Amino acid sequence: MYTDRLNDHSLLEEEYFYKKDRELIDKMHDAEYKKQELLARTAHYHKCGCCGHDMKETVHDDLQFLQCQHCENVQVSMEMLEVMSQGKKLKNLISELQIRKQVEEEEKASA
Ligand SMILES: [Zn+2]
Repeated sequence: MYTDRLNDHSLLEEEYFYKKDRELIDKMHDAEYKKQELLARTAHYHKCGCCGHDMKETVHDDLQFLQCQHCENVQVSMEMLEVMSQGKKLKNLISELQIRKQVEEEEKASA
């Protein structure tokens, strides 16, 4: 009878420590997952979604957007897109970007 109680007690103790270990392991896995997710997100910060090169913050008039330094892909917020759609802002912006590209190409050619 005494040994049965002792066995019950050790089983309860074993179960308790098993649960505690499991909780600690789960916490460690959660922390590692969050760390990896943050690293993945920050690795893509200001990187082009098309080619993976760096994107540069560009401003023209009151318009702000990101432009890829490699493939010229443009990333713009919905708010900026609404502003660009007013009047001839988008058309002017495209002309400005084309002029900038032409000037850069001429500078490269003369260097
Ligand atoms: Zn790109």
